Amino acid sequence: IGASASADVEPSIAPVQIDRTQQLLIDGKFVDAASGKTFPTLDPRTGDTIAIVAEAGTEDVNRSVRAARKAFDEGPWPKMTAYERSRILLRFADLLEKHNDEVAAIETWDSGKTYEQANVEIPMVVRLFRYYAGWADKIHGLTVPADGPYHVQTLHEPIGVAGQIVPWNFPLLIFSWKVAPALACGNTVIMKTAEQTPLSALYVSKLFLEAGLPPGVLNVITGSGAITGAALCSHMDVDKLAFTGSTGTGKRILELSAQSNLKPVTLELGGKSPFIVCEDADVDAAVEAAHSALFFNQGQCCCAGSRTFVHEGIYDEFVEKAKARALKRVVGDPFKRGVEQGPQIDSMQFEKIMKYIRSGIENGATLESGGQRIGSKGYYIQPTVFSNVEDNMLIAKEEIFGPIQSILKFNDLEEVIRRANATSYGLAAGVFTQNMDTANTLMRALRVGTVWINCYDIFDAAIPFGGYKMSGQGRVRGVYSLHSYLQVKAVVTALKNPTW
Ligand code: NAD
Repeated sequence: IGASASADVEPSIAPVQIDRTQQLLIDGKFVDAASGKTFPTLDPRTGDTIAIVAEAGTEDVNRSVRAARKAFDEGPWPKMTAYERSRILLRFADLLEKHNDEVAAIETWDSGKTYEQANVEIPMVVRLFRYYAGWADKIHGLTVPADGPYHVQTLHEPIGVAGQIVPWNFPLLIFSWKVAPALACGNTVIMKTAEQTPLSALYVSKLFLEAGLPPGVLNVITGSGAITGAALCSHMDVDKLAFTGSTGTGKRILELSAQSNLKPVTLELGGKSPFIVCEDADVDAAVEAAHSALFFNQGQCCCAGSRTFVHEGIYDEFVEKAKARALKRVVGDPFKRGVEQGPQIDSMQFEKIMKYIRSGIENGATLESGGQRIGSKGYYIQPTVFSNVEDNMLIAKEEIFGPIQSILKFNDLEEVIRRANATSYGLAAGVFTQNMDTANTLMRALRVGTVWINCYDIFDAAIPFGGYKMSGQGRVRGVYSLHSYLQVKAVVTALKNPTW
């Protein structure tokens, strides 16, 4: 359609071009919004417009739900053999692998994440689709030995039409955590991307069609949370919702489900994850891991290790080394080789992060490094380290979603367990120790969905991920994710001849 746009990338990266105007995928066709409305998606390096994207309104949500409903109720998707579904998902994974470099470049362009990191994430998306393609023909129920003259079995059936809403920090990775298990189980999907990062999902939509996914099985709509997202959540013909984003929006989505048809909801929400460094830890390894636990993806990570608890015996050494590491962090154009940190996603997040930096200083934390904007174009922020952070400071309590490391001091295990758990979040935790008993105690005592011991941010298609407390409900990835896309039907048959 019309003109195309190309990213300004360094010569070693293949140039990428996309259509300047992007449409919705509904019922196997790319279409404009019924209202004709659009919105721009911006390059976080400059704030310039990359493309103009269709803004789905209620009418478009209705159209996509009708298409997904038809593909579910009349088939072909849930009526196909599981093996055929699996083969389509595998074909999609092969196509994505072939287009890896373009998709990685689009992800960097739209989100500001480094090209090197995007080049790790896209293969993870491929791996995840292959993982769930492998599950498609291994989903089955049980035969149940009940009392009485009955033959009892359970059928594991898809739930139906799934509405899925994703954020901007890992656009295609989180898309895959939701779409792959839903499709593998035989559901149909309406995916709403984040307004800041619609491009990678729209690009791969074409690959799904090329892989042979029937019309209506996956619909991709772009637009705002308040209108497009809310219309999807309130729809009476949507059977299930899956959401990743902020805790506030998660609450709103539960309300919309309750006010409509009580569709089940899975939520992956925010966090304020503790990263605990014990006195016996390998300090250099812990400094490096704590650094990437926080600064990875510009600090825009739901499971960021955003409260670094360090034992008082090694505190000064740790702070010195953490500061030196942050000062060495390479910030710049995310397309450049060797760059570790790109710009924040947009001006709103940028302003919010700068406000937290000011609050850390005002509350009396020690600013060890950073604290300033870099340049005057785009949304670059210096890697910032605060020491002498206290539990009651805002930077230790609230999710910042930016490159600010807060280092707190502790002196015994009971104390750090109590403080680490004293939050309404419970997404993840890191533990650095060489003592097995300490690791075992912390692993059991921390009220979080993932504990990483002597490592951090290890993600795998097979490892479940999700939150305790206000960090979420349900799990993505692994076998656990299948449970939220299936329902169990009990079938009881009277036996004519109970002796056999
Ligand atoms: P957000 O909640 O504002 O937006 C996330 C998505 O929800 C977007 O697609 C948005 O359009 C949509 N949305 C917003 N309001 C809506 C509504 N009323 N109804 C339906 N949909 C609506 O979050 P954000 O600012 O885009 O992302 C950052 C937040 O997401 C952080 O708090 C972070 O912790 C969280 N997050 C959590 C995880 C996780 O796995 N737990 C992963 C990534 C991000």
